[in-house]
Amino acid sequence: PFEKSKGQHILKNPMLVETIVQKAGIKPTDVVLEIGPGTGNLTKKLLEVSKSVVAIELDPRMVLELNRRFQGTPYSNRLKVIQGDILKSELPYFDICVANIPYQISSPLTFKLLSHHSVFRCAVIMFQREFAMRLVANPGDNLYCRLSVNTQLLARVSHLLKVGRNNFKPPPKVDSSVVRIEPRRPLPPVSFKEWDGLIRLCFNRKNKTLGSIFKQKSVLSLLEKNYKTMQALQQAQNGQMEEEKASTDDLAVLADMIEDLSMDSYGVKDEDEMDVEEDDMMGGGSEKSDFKEMIMGILKQGDFAEKRASKLTQVDFLYLLSLFKKAGIHFA
Ligand code: SAM
Repeated sequence: PFEKSKGQHILKNPMLVETIVQKAGIKPTDVVLEIGPGTGNLTKKLLEVSKSVVAIELDPRMVLELNRRFQGTPYSNRLKVIQGDILKSELPYFDICVANIPYQISSPLTFKLLSHHSVFRCAVIMFQREFAMRLVANPGDNLYCRLSVNTQLLARVSHLLKVGRNNFKPPPKVDSSVVRIEPRRPLPPVSFKEWDGLIRLCFNRKNKTLGSIFKQKSVLSLLEKNYKTMQALQQAQNGQMEEEKASTDDLAVLADMIEDLSMDSYGVKDEDEMDVEEDDMMGGGSEKSDFKEMIMGILKQGDFAEKRASKLTQVDFLYLLSLFKKAGIHFA
């Protein structure tokens, strides 16, 4: 009766459910958001330790079963089940999110939670092991990638628990991990679009030096186009343009990006595999231009020319972005 397309793998090990709930650190005053409650094994434990649970479930059959399970119990008036797709639903108020989700929604769900306008303490979520390891990867780790850097800009992320596939019925093809995601408040004062534009470029070839990435014709011409557009705009507005505000109003932008992100193969492919070494064959430095000199100057200024994305920290990227911004270079 379980539907593969909906990622229905039910947690069948009560000890494991207990451990997840324990590690989540739920308080008796907490409103819990559960995504994909299924038959309610996790829901029951959540109800035992919280003030109330709001559960959003896609499958109407599961919604029925869930309501039936708690009907006439003391829990029923503290549980609200909503039938719907979490990615299309407006998130309700909650203090903490605990969920064993269908893995196909991992990245859009993560960014949907991180762009939620109201504050919540943390999310404790079961992910496919490799996705989890990408979320928590540090500079120098094999799996350190754009997903790691973008998530860690918006949240503190930690690995809580390894979970073998046999804890589920039916067992999925991959192992899992429970991860804790704690949103940063306030958010770092950067434009997320600019940030992601830079990170995309750098991780497109994460083991190349930034010097060689920014020497590529395609990269230079994109940046030069942005640069000229911005300059023209500024002239048109006669210098009246306000300095772009360091924006936590970027939450709105973030929300807009969710659609894009769900199209992304975020965290699935290895960025390096898709390398096409377009202009390396030309030795990289054959054409001189003022714009290129300017970009190389910025990299040198921060001592970035010989560095590789795979080893750079959040702080390094924030500094690099600020150098580019000061010089009027835009990535979005
Ligand atoms: N929480 C239960 C457990 O741990 O035993 C079930 C987990 S199962 C991995 C995922 C659940 O999410 C399924 O019940 C499935 O129907 C539901 N689901 C799938 N896609 C969903 C979506 N987009 N929005 C909400 N629920 C979804």
